[in-house]
Amino acid sequence: MTVVERSPELRPGGQAVDARGVAKEVIRRMGLDAAVRAARTVTAGAYTVDADGNVLETYAADDHGGDGYIAEIEILRGDLSQVLYDDTHDGVEYVFGDRIAELVQDADGVDVIFAGGDRRRFDLVVGADGLHSALRAMVFGPHERFVRHLGLVLAFYSVPNEFGLDRWLIEYQESGRSALLRPIHDATRAMAMFSFPSADFDVDYRDVEAQKRLLRERTTGLGWLTPRILEHLDDTPDFYLDQVAQVVMDRWSSGRVGLLGDAAFSSSPMSGQGTGLALVGAYLLAGELAAAGWDPEAGFAAYERQMRPFVEANQEIGRLHARSLDVPGPDAEPSTEPEWDPDLIERAINGLELPDYAGVPDSGAPAAPPITSSTRP
Ligand SMILES: Cc1cc2nc3c(=O)[nH]c(=O)nc-3n(C[C@H](O)[C@H](O)[C@H](O)COP(=O)(O)OP(=O)(O)OC[C@H]3O[C@@H](n4cnc5c(N)ncnc54)[C@H](O)[C@@H]3O)c2cc1C
Repeated sequence: MTVVERSPELRPGGQAVDARGVAKEVIRRMGLDAAVRAARTVTAGAYTVDADGNVLETYAADDHGGDGYIAEIEILRGDLSQVLYDDTHDGVEYVFGDRIAELVQDADGVDVIFAGGDRRRFDLVVGADGLHSALRAMVFGPHERFVRHLGLVLAFYSVPNEFGLDRWLIEYQESGRSALLRPIHDATRAMAMFSFPSADFDVDYRDVEAQKRLLRERTTGLGWLTPRILEHLDDTPDFYLDQVAQVVMDRWSSGRVGLLGDAAFSSSPMSGQGTGLALVGAYLLAGELAAAGWDPEAGFAAYERQMRPFVEANQEIGRLHARSLDVPGPDAEPSTEPEWDPDLIERAINGLELPDYAGVPDSGAPAAPPITSSTRP
């Protein structure tokens, strides 16, 4: 197996992601429970505050059996990548700093031309290259056909921890906009995060200066610590801003090319389950392909059949959450929290019975290895 990652090296840090329910079980079956727990963030929970910093509500990390708003397994995306990489790099070829420029498939395999010039042939190609997947655009069609903007924009960047933040995340909300500070490993710094409504979004996701302008514009007048947090916008070493979006597709495979994770079925950060879906999807995809003797049609179909209801429950959560933050105008009252249906939440967290692939022989693995176009989270 070959993993191709566009970045020159593993990308450190990033946002904190949670693993709940079935995703925790995948981590356990991979034998990575101890390693993931050792790399967890130290977040004890979250509280919401009013404009003066008075606490409104508190959510502890061990609420709801550890599967609540702040999950007991919360880990920076980059730290999870590191754990997965450490566990696999002996048996997997990792190619950093390259990407697929072109591919042509026939009945027996896929010819791949890399941006760096290499030409290789693989049995299968799996695109796990995120929300803006280039592989999806190459094989399935333009982004606009599959990416659904949920009317919100999310930004985050690190700031000096001059706010006395310890192990608790603090969130402030006002008229559909929010500002948040969360602790990170380096206690001298904190991660700031903002969200604001935006019906249309046409800022290039690579144009950082335009994104910072948009953030300043849309957070004007936002209370609490917002002005102080924004003072650090120009000198932060890291910055991320993107629309909150989902990916909805009729099919996640075409012949010998399949999609996985956000590229196929982003549920958006509003679901809190994107990483969980990517992990569970990877488990099912690998297991079903091996169980099908590496027959792409049968393997991709079995993966999709089991994964789809799980994805749909999580996308529903993402949409409900985004809608609950939607406000018609700056002076309007925020909508109330949706009435969360416990059955929907249960389906989104635990609603998939993981097959046990323990006895599946992978000796029938293809002569040329499959490829995935990116590291998993
Ligand atoms: C602010 C925020 C908070 C979130 N919170 C949570 C949470 O609490 N819980 C949760 O489960 N999820 C959360 N998510 C979502 C989660 O981060 C994603 O769902 C998850 O990372 C998807 O994993 P992925 O591997 O599919 O894609 P990504 O993590 O996007 O990884 C894609 C990889 O592909 C690489 N790449 C891109 N293009 C190419 C190319 N052409 N060729 C080769 N490589 C390429 C990228 O460099 C990257 O390494 C959050 C996301 C955000 C932004």
